[in-house]
Amino acid sequence: ANGLINRPILASIHTAAFQHNLNRVRELAPESKIWSVIKARAYGHCFDAALKGLASTDGFALLDIQDAAWLRQHGWKGRILLLEGFFHENELSLAQELACDLVVHCEAQVEWLERFKAKNHKPFNVFLKMNTGMNRLGFKPDNYRTAFHRLHAAGYHMHHMTHFANADQIDQSPTVGAQQELFNQTIEGLEGSTSLANSAAILWHRNALGDWVRPGIMLYGASPTGLHADIKHANLQAVMQLHSEIIDIQDLQKGDRIGYGGRYEATAAMRVGIVACGYADGYPRHAKDGTPVWVAQGNEGVVCPLVGRVSMDMLAIDLRKAPNARIGTAVQLWGDKVPVDDVAQMSDTIGYELLCAVAPRVPVAIK
Ligand code: PLP
Repeated sequence: ANGLINRPILASIHTAAFQHNLNRVRELAPESKIWSVIKARAYGHCFDAALKGLASTDGFALLDIQDAAWLRQHGWKGRILLLEGFFHENELSLAQELACDLVVHCEAQVEWLERFKAKNHKPFNVFLKMNTGMNRLGFKPDNYRTAFHRLHAAGYHMHHMTHFANADQIDQSPTVGAQQELFNQTIEGLEGSTSLANSAAILWHRNALGDWVRPGIMLYGASPTGLHADIKHANLQAVMQLHSEIIDIQDLQKGDRIGYGGRYEATAAMRVGIVACGYADGYPRHAKDGTPVWVAQGNEGVVCPLVGRVSMDMLAIDLRKAPNARIGTAVQLWGDKVPVDDVAQMSDTIGYELLCAVAPRVPVAIK
């Protein structure tokens, strides 16, 4: 058993795996600096663990200014990028106190920054966001240069940024090349460093890296495509391991059904393990029968299939491959034994969503 107390569930966060994955980014993008993307509580891994495991990054990119404040309070002296430009005019002084760099994506923000600078404030580093085809945020190329010149004239230190919509199409993305070309054309003759690549581009489109790469999901050891097979040879390590235990065992006869709605019908006599993890912990309720769950067996372990609908606090697994499983036997829902992407695939989603959705009630242990 894991020695867990109360409800036996725990997310252990492995800082050595963070370090390993960051080193992989350095190997893949040796010429670039790294903004480690830690929005959404470091994709559900918690900021403390990210700060510890990713301490050798060049900078952290995150969303909320409160999170930037947290990083400073906890000793981070390096750069911080307020990603996606979700700041408001009344937060600019705080952003400056916290020595944040800003992503600027819209006209209103340009106006705020002009006003701010007119009050004799120091200039920010600005990563101006260009919409090269993602059509989420950013200036279209037509307006980009105007925004650039306005902020440059106001005295800001200007840099260029865009975001790929299809870098997860591995062999040939129809748009990475086109987005990159538009970006390069638009910034021609303008000073400033560039930032383009997310994890997928770092892994699969290495002619599109730019001066600052922005890896997120690969730092956590999961796949940008949602398929574990795609990162199998990328030598990344799962940072989060979601652990639980078997808390009860049911002996079923052929024809017996399991859980709400009786979705799964036993096709033969079988032992079923009840595991203390449910959708209120962040495990996907839509996981299908057959979703892999790792069960400890002696020094090794075996993957058993999930059976029946996941309920709020529990799920059930077919123990026919784990004859030694008992109450208290350790189970891993995802991590180094079961890729989170494999669980996600069986629930019609991607690893990103499962990692970010680990519930606050799940205790975290930083290893
Ligand atoms: N850059 C931006 C602007 C983002 O929004 C994100 C995440 O969505 C990332 C980088 C990191 O992406 P990924 O986790 O796919 O590496």
